[in-house]
Amino acid sequence: MFLTISTTGTPERPATDLGFLLHKHPGNAQAFSTSHGTAHVLYPEADAERCTAALLLEVDAVALARRGKGKGRGGAPDATLAQYVNDRPYAASSLLAVALSSVFSSAMKGTCTARPELPGQPRPLRIEVPVLPARGGPELVRRLFEPLGWTVTVEPVALDAEFPEWGDSRYVRLVLESSGRTLAEALRHLYVLLPVLDDAKHYWVSSDEVDKLLRAGEGWLPAHPEQKLITSRYLSRRWSLTRQAIERLELVRLAEADDTAVEEIDNAVEEIDNAVEAETETKERPAPLAVQRRDAVIAALGTSGAARVLDLGCGQGQLVQALLKDPRFTEIVGVDVSMRALTIASRRLKLDRMGERQASRVKLFQGSLAYTDNRLKGYDAAVLCEVIEHLDLPRLPALEYAVFGSARPRTVLVTTPNVEYNVRWESLPAGHVRHGDHRFEWTREEFGTWACAVAERYGYDVEFVPVGPDDPEVGPPTQMAVFSMRTVKEATAA
Ligand code: SAH
Repeated sequence: MFLTISTTGTPERPATDLGFLLHKHPGNAQAFSTSHGTAHVLYPEADAERCTAALLLEVDAVALARRGKGKGRGGAPDATLAQYVNDRPYAASSLLAVALSSVFSSAMKGTCTARPELPGQPRPLRIEVPVLPARGGPELVRRLFEPLGWTVTVEPVALDAEFPEWGDSRYVRLVLESSGRTLAEALRHLYVLLPVLDDAKHYWVSSDEVDKLLRAGEGWLPAHPEQKLITSRYLSRRWSLTRQAIERLELVRLAEADDTAVEEIDNAVEEIDNAVEAETETKERPAPLAVQRRDAVIAALGTSGAARVLDLGCGQGQLVQALLKDPRFTEIVGVDVSMRALTIASRRLKLDRMGERQASRVKLFQGSLAYTDNRLKGYDAAVLCEVIEHLDLPRLPALEYAVFGSARPRTVLVTTPNVEYNVRWESLPAGHVRHGDHRFEWTREEFGTWACAVAERYGYDVEFVPVGPDDPEVGPPTQMAVFSMRTVKEATAA
């Protein structure tokens, strides 16, 4: 079983850096004993321009068969022979993947104590596997490696070169080339994809295989188009493990998507704020729009007499922070679906260093507004500041029910962009929403229609308050609806 890793270099970045990356000196041939036999590492070539490391695994077929037997394999006489006479010693398989991870473990993790800057740098790499069992054929090999940025050369290996009429074997010669990948990435791709292509059960698959897969798949597996096939084959088609892995990958993907959304939102808010500032450069400078929004929200909360307030979709906690400074608000709860936003919020608020009295006034927790949540019941007011436009329209009724039907605070404040105002943003091309994550932006009429219908359905009155400069033609940049529960108003009036 054989595999080579080559790189090219320049006098400044010599190819022999490969020796540092692999933690194996190019001047030595070394042998390591692994669980399936002896792994040899040697360098057929090593100079500043070109350097190749070869990993050769000498499989101990007898030991392998014994290990197999210990796990209850074998039994039928012909199966016994197959344990000794098979392709294992010759074909790159899961055994080679296991050897890779044990012989090059630091390289796979991307650590290099001697030259810590090296592992993070992509470099030209060429990896050749002369005999690779490829169930699914050359086409599948491409589908697995090409999305990862590799230029793939894959040639079927003939069953017997002397008898071409016998056709191809199930083995291929594989060459991967890229100059945009780090060695650690390359090794982690191979570690997962070699056994996937081999698609044979070589060792007992236990639940920690899921952890190994997720660790090696970090950064590439969550977005890989063949994720399901990879996961299922890697886990030897054990359905419960595969499902577990796919669920965890989905969570990773969501968390990542969420991260970018939060960052983009931040950038967008900043952009809008800057645009407002730029526009009014010559006049007296008003506060940025985000600040004006916060002030408008706090003023409306003050009028409502609320003391215990929910900030739903609190993002990075700017409003929570402002509310904490105001003694009228005795309890403030920030809720967001994004764990990352909450982490930033808790850092902003210095929750861990807060005095006991202050800390008892504030709580942050993760939750989705698309579901009813008993933790949201019993508050005086709820704020949804620039949140509704982040939900797909068909999800909006679920949020309406969760807030107005289930949580039912006396007062609900909802702010959202007024799309009519977009023509006033010089930096915004016509017909564009203010931010990529906005699923919709409404005119004043659309927002009014929605808010009145919600108020009617759930027994609230609603008033509208402009936020930011109220343009005579297109209205203000932000529109705010103030909902007050009817029964409460009637009760206090009586
Ligand atoms: N209210 C903050 C953040 C607005 S950005 C401010 O005014 O600055 C919109 C926020 O809504 C994001 O933090 C996003 O994570 C959150 N969000 C989006 N969909 C959500 C949902 N279904 N449940 C809870 N929060 C959600």
